[in-house]
Amino acid sequence: MIKEWIVGVGVAVFVFLAVLGLNVLPIFFLVGVSIALWYVMDRRSAAPVATREAPVRHQVSFDQIGGQEHAKRELMEALDFLKYRDKIKALGIRPLKGILLTGPPGTGKTLMAKAAATYTDSVFLSASGSEFVEMYVGVGAQRVRDLFRRARAQAKKENKDSAIIFIDEIDVLGARRGQHSHQEYDQTLNQLLTEMDGMSTTQSPLVLVMAATNRPDMLDSALLRPGRFDRQIKVDLPDKEGRLHILKIQTKGKPLAADVDLEHIAKETYGFSGAQLESLVNEAAIIALRNDKQEISQEMFRDAVDKVLMGEKTGRKPTDEELHRVAIHEIGHAIVSELMRPGTVSHITIAPRGNALGFVRQIPESDRYLYTREQLQQQINVALAGCLAEELHFGNRSTGAQNDFMQASSLARTMVKCGLSRIGIVDEENLPDTVLDTEVRYILSEQEKATRELLQPFKDAIAEFAKSVVEEESISGDAFREWLERTQRQPNPELPAVVNDASALPFA
Ligand code: ADP
Ligand code: MG
Ligand code: ZN
Repeated sequence: MIKEWIVGVGVAVFVFLAVLGLNVLPIFFLVGVSIALWYVMDRRSAAPVATREAPVRHQVSFDQIGGQEHAKRELMEALDFLKYRDKIKALGIRPLKGILLTGPPGTGKTLMAKAAATYTDSVFLSASGSEFVEMYVGVGAQRVRDLFRRARAQAKKENKDSAIIFIDEIDVLGARRGQHSHQEYDQTLNQLLTEMDGMSTTQSPLVLVMAATNRPDMLDSALLRPGRFDRQIKVDLPDKEGRLHILKIQTKGKPLAADVDLEHIAKETYGFSGAQLESLVNEAAIIALRNDKQEISQEMFRDAVDKVLMGEKTGRKPTDEELHRVAIHEIGHAIVSELMRPGTVSHITIAPRGNALGFVRQIPESDRYLYTREQLQQQINVALAGCLAEELHFGNRSTGAQNDFMQASSLARTMVKCGLSRIGIVDEENLPDTVLDTEVRYILSEQEKATRELLQPFKDAIAEFAKSVVEEESISGDAFREWLERTQRQPNPELPAVVNDASALPFA
């Protein structure tokens, strides 16, 4: 009403001044700029602060989350206080206010929070810790207040009894207070704590705060106190069964060729997160599209695993001499891998991908959580075998083994720290760097000798086989094993007996 009035009077004055013969253009301009400014400011103060808080229309259910059986069960139990409110009240149980999901990225924490909202029929609002961090003191705290206010308003509007607020990357705003140079973080965190303390546990709508972090150790202890995030649920990388489950979910409704063996893919994808598996399935489908195929085949999945592990194929064109060297190097890795743990080479390739010029992909035997000294030594053998094969064949080494050495050194360090080295049990915290260094060097030089001995008998065979690797670019594990067996059957007193077990890492 007032707006129209002002505009009306403004126009009248304008016309009047113009009629008097004044130059109205500068005034016109000034008024225009002020209106534009005023409009922008208005919009800004009214705009929703955290951007991803639109209520989720697309509903996620717990069925769509693969693996994570343990985490799912724990979460559903925790959520029952929202579902069975009367029982909780009758027993006088203090309702839960916050649930913290911890675990590596891409394991399904966001999915869990969304599924929790579906399961409890709650409104879902999400924000990320970084959205609360602003240059200006007080803005973050204001945003926290807004978020809680909007959660309640939204629940009322949609006629729901509860709201779930999901805060991703809570470590960004919930790190121990006083650690930042900026007092802004502290204020924001304090506001979050205040909101959580003030949350009613009896009046509708109930608010539940869920948060996710990869670094629970970084969080301010005040956040983890009872009445705040007093329930922690671990969302870990999936094991083989979990990966199979996720693959089944992600391939649902996609045209798979008859030869697709999801179980085998699950076995080959040790260490993959749910997000990586999702991307793997997507990449496989893209490969099918590129090849103009109606179905996704096992081979496409294999290529997709390479892509997710090592990156996209690069346009790099190594010289023939380099290709030959890469082939020798990779065969070295592959031979030792098979000798240590038969059946573990998935395939060998010398097509450049990501940062690697070639690589051997290994199939892990099973998911492992513990390693013996022998197993670690064998992994070091596999890592060193690339450069030692080069040495055996060319009489020199190249820069191509840098990554292998990093892996080998890290394995050796693990051995020392876990008391599996020559010096026995150590106190990791008081272990002098020089001692650690000496031991790591000792282990590496011992294993270097052992690996050299393993490869020695294959010297001529490697030279022969490298030709077909260069020719074919990629050799399957089965073809490689056939060749290896043939080589081993030939009378050669130098050939070693087959030993067992190695690792799951790709050696480039
Ligand atoms: P996080 O929040 O732990 O980083 P997300 O929940 O954002 O992980 O997962 C990202 C994507 O990865 C999901 O949208 C989904 O496609 C896929 N994903 C991750 N974990 C799983 C899982 N356990 N089951 C099915 N899909 C998953
Ligand atoms: Mg997430
Ligand atoms: Zn290598």
